[in-house]
Amino acid sequence: MTAAAQSQPKPTATHCPYCALQCGVLLTGARADIALHGNVAFPVNQGALCIKGWTATEVLNHEERLLRPLKRNARGVLAPVEWDEALDTIAAAFKATQAKYGRDAVGMLGGGSLTNEKAYLLGKFARVALRTANVDYNGRFCMASAAAAANQAFGIDRGLPFPVADIAGAEVILLVGANPAETMPPLMQHFEKQRANGGTLIVVDPRQTLTAQAAHVHLRGMPGSDAALANGLLHLLIREQLLDEAYIAARTENFAAVKAVAATYWPDRVERLTGVSESQLLQTARLLGHARSAMILTAHGAEQHAQGVNNTLAFINLALALGLPGKACSGFGTITGQGNGQGGREHGQKADQLPGYRSIHDAAARQYIAEVWGINASELPGAGKSAYELLQALGGEIKALFALGFNFMVSAPDAHQISARLNQLDFFCTADFFLSETARVADVVLPSAQWAEEEGTLTNLEGRVIRRRRALWPPEEARSDIETLCALAARLGCREQFSYADSEAVFNELRRASAGGLADYSGISYARLDAGEALHWPCPEGSEGTPRLFSESFPTPTGKARFHAVQHQAAVEEPDAEFPLYLTTGRVLAQYQTGAMTRRIAKLNAASGEPCAELHPQVAQRYCLQAGAAITLVTRRGRAQFKVKLTRGIRPDTIFVPFHWGAEQSANHLTIGALDPVSRMPEFKVCAVRIEPALTQNSPFLTLNSLAERQPN
Ligand code: SF4
Repeated sequence: MTAAAQSQPKPTATHCPYCALQCGVLLTGARADIALHGNVAFPVNQGALCIKGWTATEVLNHEERLLRPLKRNARGVLAPVEWDEALDTIAAAFKATQAKYGRDAVGMLGGGSLTNEKAYLLGKFARVALRTANVDYNGRFCMASAAAAANQAFGIDRGLPFPVADIAGAEVILLVGANPAETMPPLMQHFEKQRANGGTLIVVDPRQTLTAQAAHVHLRGMPGSDAALANGLLHLLIREQLLDEAYIAARTENFAAVKAVAATYWPDRVERLTGVSESQLLQTARLLGHARSAMILTAHGAEQHAQGVNNTLAFINLALALGLPGKACSGFGTITGQGNGQGGREHGQKADQLPGYRSIHDAAARQYIAEVWGINASELPGAGKSAYELLQALGGEIKALFALGFNFMVSAPDAHQISARLNQLDFFCTADFFLSETARVADVVLPSAQWAEEEGTLTNLEGRVIRRRRALWPPEEARSDIETLCALAARLGCREQFSYADSEAVFNELRRASAGGLADYSGISYARLDAGEALHWPCPEGSEGTPRLFSESFPTPTGKARFHAVQHQAAVEEPDAEFPLYLTTGRVLAQYQTGAMTRRIAKLNAASGEPCAELHPQVAQRYCLQAGAAITLVTRRGRAQFKVKLTRGIRPDTIFVPFHWGAEQSANHLTIGALDPVSRMPEFKVCAVRIEPALTQNSPFLTLNSLAERQPN
């Protein structure tokens, strides 16, 4: 090694701030010249990154970064104030609200990208400092259905119960409603290895996405038909005698009820319900049934529905009938989306949950957590409202709101309605990196430290706990949300319970709080992670962690997995004469979630600077539309504007739009707020829509008459 190389400071090994793959990156340099490299030593991405990861340092020094607290002044303008004034204002508003309306009148909302430490502290802050029941997080919009289904079937909710490296060893993979080639491209290297090993990939998606193009079989089912498809495949597996009878008998419960339901999903009925041909159904059933190893993976496409839990359970039934969970290079898994979508749902920021994935209804769990927090169990609130229900209660039962990293003005369904309710609040404050669409309407806005400026841990989509490490100190007056929550708690009379030396001290308390729970982190420490250990939860004290679950049993009372008999149900809103097409929403490669960070990066905007509506050419012909034309999409909730993108890859009865934009380009002005009865997840993936002329003056095509629907030639 040369003398120059020896003098180079060691790179900081940390992780991309965006999705749940949490690709490893190395940061070098100071703030002005910070450089980012893929970390080849991290096995999940092995150095590969997507365009969002490669450009992630650009948000650190962005000119629109929030650097001082803001408070709305007498003229209604957000103006800089000192931290003390901002925090005093928030504490006084919360106290006044609770004195007048009761403790539950203050709501808290967290984000799925917060570190484990922040998610834990947010839940504790709500229950101990505010003593409100109304705390929830934006995972309700992301993973709640997958989580609920996994809990019901397996007794535990870990997105992937095996490392992503196992994908390469699966002979057949059924990938449902996932598009990793565009949403998390580095994951595709594992699918490419699977293909190179002779494996088969089957993709279920209404669109011929990049992932579907890479598949051997593409089932282009109708939006909202997932449970019918899974039940139809199970019908064929039974008919073809391709079940793992020994596994069903030894390791599962309730198959008889599911078998009776599957009997009614004969192939021609399933073809009518799903749009997938009988021959493709049989091909898929045979590929799965004859494979020595197979995986069934679901994602938002199946989960973001008012039937999301049932859809997921239907595919779990399929996996159990094939005897997959717990076998080598096999199983069922869900592909978590948000950066800490997994850890964020384990540590107590959910309305019905305490740290360690404990139920807030469980008396023993309440007692245990109350002791860790130094309070009486009787002081712990009960279950509160889920995120969308909490937003619907703004101005009603909820009079004041604190949101951390949750841009719900863009991410909530039926966003117009939420916007109107927000105006009825007595007080609203938020902490964020930028003045997002949500922060713009707050009374107080606090500037948060960003990913490369903080220490902590996150949990990726395979349940691996990883270290986020600080490479830079936060600029100017931006602060860690941990400091913010502790300073507010002190003002609310809870200084003692919120005194931590650093994020590691918070994590050590989280470890104690999780000990003995389903998501047991007690054996994970910063020291072990910093020494390079790969630790997947559950990891009790002294354990090596659990990269693979279910090899021996399931964490249910009987040790067996449970089948659930589920039926196909039509979407809450089906196309009709007034709204003749399906609308489905999703993500694009160059933007992330609500775009609060990525829409500020020039290279990402150069790739995807505005939302495009994907239409089949048959639809375009019917409405006299050309590629690039401006259109307005209209549903019963509202309207939004898009550019036309023509593709033969989408079903002719369906329009796809991305949800990363706000205001008049907001897909969530269109979506429906119907909720899954169990997970309380909204139906983002399907509603009925029609096409109208664009509202802008300079649209390339414009007359109403030219848009009048006409029959195809
Ligand atoms: Fe970041 Fe996800 Fe892209 Fe990896 S795949 S670089 S974690 S956004």
